Parts: sequence; structure tokens; C-alpha cells
Amino acid sequence: MIQSPSGIKLLNKQDFPCDSEECDLTEALQLRLLELEDFAQRVEADAAKTIALAEELAIAKSMTDKALRQAENSELRTRSVLDAVVDGIFTINMDGMIESVNASCTGILDASEAELLSGDIGDIVFDFEGLNLEAVLQDGESGDICGQDGVTLRCRARPRSGEPFPAELIMSRLVVSGQVKYTCVLRDITERMNSEVAIQKLALYDQLTGAANRHEFHRRLDTAISLAGRQGVTAALLLLDLDKFKEVNDTYGHPVGDELLISVTRILEESVRDSDTVARIGGDEFAVILNNVVDPLRIRQVAERIVDGLSQSMVVDGSLISTGTSVGISIYPRDAKDAKELVRLGDKALYEAKRRGRGNYQYYDEVMDADARAEQVLENDLRLAVVRNELELYFQPQLATRGNVPIGAEALVRWRHPTRGLLLPGDFIPLAEKSGLIVDIGKQVLFEGCRAVQDWNEAGINSLLMAINVSPNQFMSDQFLQTVSDALDSTGIDPRSLEIEITENSLIEDPEKVRTKLETIRSFGVSIAIDDFGTGYASLAYLRNFPVQKLKIDRTFIKNLTTSAPDRAIAEAIANLGHSLNISTVAEGIETSQQATAIRRMPCSGMQGYYFSRPLSERRFWQWLRER
Ligand code: C2E
Ligand code: MG
Ligand code: MG
Repeated sequence: MIQSPSGIKLLNKQDFPCDSEECDLTEALQLRLLELEDFAQRVEADAAKTIALAEELAIAKSMTDKALRQAENSELRTRSVLDAVVDGIFTINMDGMIESVNASCTGILDASEAELLSGDIGDIVFDFEGLNLEAVLQDGESGDICGQDGVTLRCRARPRSGEPFPAELIMSRLVVSGQVKYTCVLRDITERMNSEVAIQKLALYDQLTGAANRHEFHRRLDTAISLAGRQGVTAALLLLDLDKFKEVNDTYGHPVGDELLISVTRILEESVRDSDTVARIGGDEFAVILNNVVDPLRIRQVAERIVDGLSQSMVVDGSLISTGTSVGISIYPRDAKDAKELVRLGDKALYEAKRRGRGNYQYYDEVMDADARAEQVLENDLRLAVVRNELELYFQPQLATRGNVPIGAEALVRWRHPTRGLLLPGDFIPLAEKSGLIVDIGKQVLFEGCRAVQDWNEAGINSLLMAINVSPNQFMSDQFLQTVSDALDSTGIDPRSLEIEITENSLIEDPEKVRTKLETIRSFGVSIAIDDFGTGYASLAYLRNFPVQKLKIDRTFIKNLTTSAPDRAIAEAIANLGHSLNISTVAEGIETSQQATAIRRMPCSGMQGYYFSRPLSERRFWQWLRER
């Protein structure tokens, strides 16, 4: 049996019992049938192929449609994004003609799209800083200036109405179908510029007064000097220090102090030209730079105006305040050729003005510099003096009020200068303090003082007290306690024969540290006296908190003891205070018998002064003791 591929059952020859003619026909039919079968099969295969093709076509079409829709959406989206951007965005060709704009462009420039499209870029931006538009456009072919990354230009934009505003123009170059185009982003930078100005103000100007700050002062001084140098004129520097600012602050409080500084700034600004500089360079320190001084008289006039203006009382926050100022003046190029030196000399002049009693102005002159050089020489000599043992101790006796018997001596240092003779402490102690040499000097004095006690002891004198002066810097130095203990150890003296004299000013810096130090000294057995009592700034509370054994009533109260009731009252009050606190008192600087008599009537334990004896060399002190 014949089976067609399509499953149709075919008949075989033997299925037809026939004669030969019939059989031939049947065979032909069957062949035809097979041919048809074959044809049908081919058609069937072709149809399947066509269907697959049609399916593919349908998919392709749907994909194309989708892509088209997406493209449309994306253009819309791009457009809407561009329109939503705050910055103006527009494109131009190489000739600068505007070809497209976004919505913000029309808003920023206050013009319709059509108006903008009919113009060129020069109509909307101008006044370029640094790199300008022409340079960018001319370089369009190469793209050297404005490549793919773009270039940012600072300019101003010109809206159809209203004021031009500062703008930033970011241009990027692109080539479209062989033609160079630029995409331009136009940004209004008014706010940024405003904050830049504000930041600059913060960096260059004093917040309180609006005057130039220290940093800006230095910059302007440099500029003033280089300008004056080029133009062959003079520039002057005036440095000022308010005379009583601290007192105003302490008395009236900081808000009034602040107001005062503002008023001072206004007065200074009114005393100079707009082209000059007023700067606040410290708490109550100001500087004025006078530019382009042709007539030197102007410097004097300004200085006088400032000193006068600030010496007037001012009403600040309802209070009548008087301050006053001292002014130091240095002049370019007469005094110095560079800013640093000019400031240094101005400072010297200011120092001199203050030294001469404040409320005045001083020009820098070479005499001052000579003083400074002399000080330098003295400092070097003093350094050598310590090494060469040129320092000597003099001793001024102290006596008991009752019985006039010696109770001790105060060691007072002298410097036997190789050329200048015997110098008193006032000639070199302040310099020693300033230079730090006081630590070494103080150490020598302490050792020498203890050695003198050793000599007393060897001569059988054991009841005298040796008082040694210790200045604030020496007392506060880290080595001080060690020095005291070394001096005691190396001489082996009884610590109870040593007393250290400190001034009230030593007590105020760091009360806790001071207390610990004083207690350590006490634990050695050494006693503590407060020198020049009544003249310092410490609070009386320290008498309760610090271990103090003696108060030395300052010479200034003793001086007028018999002529001034207030001075007498103060001296008496100190003596009574000591008495009731169980602290002994010694009156310093007694020069007359009347003063001695007055002191003897007070509960004061000791006396010291020229009336009894001047400070004596060691040899003469021994003589004095023997005479007793
Ligand atoms: P001070 O400690 O108050 O010493 C007393 C000063 O008054 C001494 O001056 C003394 O000569 C002087 N004096 C004493 N009695 C009288 C008097 O009756 N009338 C007058 N007008 N003056 C009298 P000196 O020796 O010139 O010492 C001055 C200051 O120098 C001392 O004042 C003291 O503070 C300081 N000093 C002295 N020696 C040293 C030292 O070794 N180290 C430190 N750090 N300072 C010292
Ligand atoms: Mg003293
Ligand atoms: Mg004294």
C-alpha cells in the first residue's frame, strides 16, 4: 500500500482486479495522484515559510513603531528638560546667529523666542572679562579654545528691559552635519557675585567696624609703597592705640566698648581721604595709610585731627566716654623702604608717643632707633655680666619697731658695669625681665643671698632674716622651685632664715598654680612677703587663700605719712589688717624720724628705710651690724 506523506491512504495495483487497459489508467491516475501529493507537500512547506516571514515582518514593524514613538518622546522630553532648566540655553552658528533658544532664555532676557531668533549673540551678551567672545568664535574651525569640554566666559547680559546683569556664558562647540555650532548656557550670577562680595568683605574687613582688617591692611600697605615708589611720592603710616580702651571695656562692658570702636573708626574715616586706608589691626589698635602724600604737612594735619577728634568725649550708648589716642608715624621712603620696616618704626614711634604721656603723636626718628640699639648693647652686656660675675648684692637692714634691733636685711642687686659704673636695679631689671635674663640673674641673687646667710651663721648670727626679691617672670618660671631648693641644699642654711618677696602682680596670673608654688615654698620652711603692698591689682582675697607671712607697706604711703591723712589711713589700715590676720607688716622707705614715730604707733612689726640705713655693700653691712 502506498502511504502519502500527508497520511492519505493510496491504493496498490493489486487492489484493482482489472484488465490491462484499466490497469494502465489506474497507474496513470496513481502517478498523477503522487505528483499532486508532492505538490501539496511543497505548497505546505512554502506556506509555513511565508507565515514565519510574515511574523518576522510584524515583529519588525512593531519594533520600528516603538522606536519611532520613543524618539518622538525623547525629543519632547529633551525639549521640556531644556525648557525647565533655569539657565538660558541657546545655540548659535559660527557667525554668532542665534538658531534655537529654550524657554528660560526668553524669561531671563525678557524677549520673545522670535525676537531672540532674529538676532545674534552680541545682542544679548557683552562686556567680557578676560577671554572674549570674538576669540572663541574666530577659533571655531580648530576648536582650540572651545573644544568639546567647552569654555566659561564672564560677561554681562542685556535683557530687553531693565538693567544688564552679571552673567556666565558656558560655550561648547559641536559639529553637526559638517557645520560648527555652539551650545551656549547663559547663567545669571548676580546672587553668586553678591555672595562673593559678602565673602570678600568677611575676609578683608573687620566685622565690627567695617574697617580693613589686619590682612587687608598689609596688602594695602604693600600697594601704597609700590605705588608711591613708582610715582616718586611719599606714603605715611600712622599707628594708633586707644589710650583708655581697657578701662572703658571694664567699666561700661563690652557692648559699649564695641560701640566706641565703631565711633573711633568713623572719626578716623572722616579724618582722611577716600583713597586712604583705615584699618583695625588689633583689639584697640588701628592703622591709617596715607597714600600719595605730596605735601608732608598733610601728615601732620591728619595726625592732629585724629588726636583732637579722639580726645573729645563721645556719647556712646548713653554714656559720656573719653578715650584719647597715641599715634606713631613712619614715612616711606624717608624712614624705611619696605612695609615690614615701616610698621616696625611706626610701632617704635607709637611706643614713644605713649611714653611721652599719651594723647599725642610722634614721628619716628633715628633717636628712637639709637635708643633701641643702646638697649640691645645693654642686653648683650647684661648677658655677659651674669657670666663675668658683675652682679653684686647690697643689703638694706630691717629693724623691729619695738626696740630698734636688726631683724634682717633685704638683698638688693647692683650691677658693677665695666664702663658705666654701679647700676641700680631700675636700670637693668626691666630689661632683664623683658629678655628673660631675669631667670639667671635671680638664680645668682638667690645663691648669693643664701651664701651671705651662711657667713652670718659662721659668725654666730642666726636670728637674721634674708629677704630676696623675686620678679613675676622669675617666680612663674618652671625652674624657680628647683632653684630655691638647690640654693638651700648647696649652702645648708636654715630655710627659716630665707624670705622671698614677691609683688601682688605675681599673684594674679594663674591663682591655682601660684598657690601650689607658694605652698611648696612654705613646705621648704621659707617665708613669703608681699612687696610694695597696696600698689598692685590683686584682690585682697589672696591673703586668705595664699600662705603669706608678711606685707611690706609700699614706700608711696610712707612718703606722705605725716602730711597726707589718706596715706596715713591706708598705711594704718594695712598694719591693722596684717595684725588681725596674724601677718606681720614692714614699712618701707622710712626717711625721717617723724615717719618712724608714726609707724611705731601702728601695729606694724618692722621698719626699713634710709632713716636707718641705705642699702650697703656686704663689707659695710658687716660694719653696720658690728656697730649695733
Ligand atoms: P623694693 O624691693 O621695693 O626695694 C626697695 C627699694 O627702695 C630699693 O631700691 C631701696 O634702695 C629703696 N629704698 C629703701 N629705703 C628707701 C628710702 O628710705 N627712700 C627711698 N627713696 N628709697 C628707699 P633699689 O635697690 O633701687 O631697688 C629697686 C627695686 O628693684 C626693688 O624694690 C626691687 O623691686 C627691685 N630689685 C632689687 N633687687 C632685686 C633683685 O635681686 N631681683 C629682682 N627681681 N628685683 C630686684
Ligand atoms: Mg623688695
Ligand atoms: Mg618694695
